[in-house]
Amino acid sequence: MLNLILFGPPGAGKGTHSDKLVKKYKLVHISTGDIFRNEIGNKTELGKRAKAFMDKGELVPDEVVLDMLLSVIDRNKDAKGFVFDGFPRTIVQAEKFDEMLDKRKMPVSLVVSLDVNDNELITRLVKRGIESGRTDDTEEVIGQRLNVYNNQTKPLLDYYTGKKLLHTVYGIGVIDEIFEKICSVIDSNV
Ligand code: ADP
Repeated sequence: MLNLILFGPPGAGKGTHSDKLVKKYKLVHISTGDIFRNEIGNKTELGKRAKAFMDKGELVPDEVVLDMLLSVIDRNKDAKGFVFDGFPRTIVQAEKFDEMLDKRKMPVSLVVSLDVNDNELITRLVKRGIESGRTDDTEEVIGQRLNVYNNQTKPLLDYYTGKKLLHTVYGIGVIDEIFEKICSVIDSNV
């Protein structure tokens, strides 16, 4: 089983590369952001709860994310593996996730971190906001999301380095070339 965490700041290209990884390695894609946007579109209680945080660029509370994630994993018992995109985003999420995976005997195989500088991230996110109308891709909210990333999510780099699971790939350039690098990291480490 291949359980891959695709890690990186907002706008690093996690969604783009997840789609390609899912096709190549026949994995189930779990994007917590996509799940929340889907819930918002369907006007569910979970969606309403998540939207209040997302629109401000803040994180949805850990317990809400974890409950949701658990139910998605358990609905995909026959999966060959998963790509986790946008999760975990806090140390608490990572610790609970490890417990959850231990119980199911499906450890994290590796973490691939996409390295992209802030200027490039802001340029990409502003462009995506104009093209997609995503309500959190506005300049003000983007700044807040990058703060949240630096304060709450970036410490996970040390967490996974400590577990010897972290691999970094430079995330600027031709998409297919970046993807090749991600695949070679995967192929030489699983
Ligand atoms: P991006 O990585 O570009 O910020 P996502 O779609 O992954 O986009 O996330 C959008 C928003 O959804 C986040 O700013 C946050 O509010 C919420 N969210 C997504 N995943 C998580 C998570 N694991 N924990 C808490 N909040 C999350």
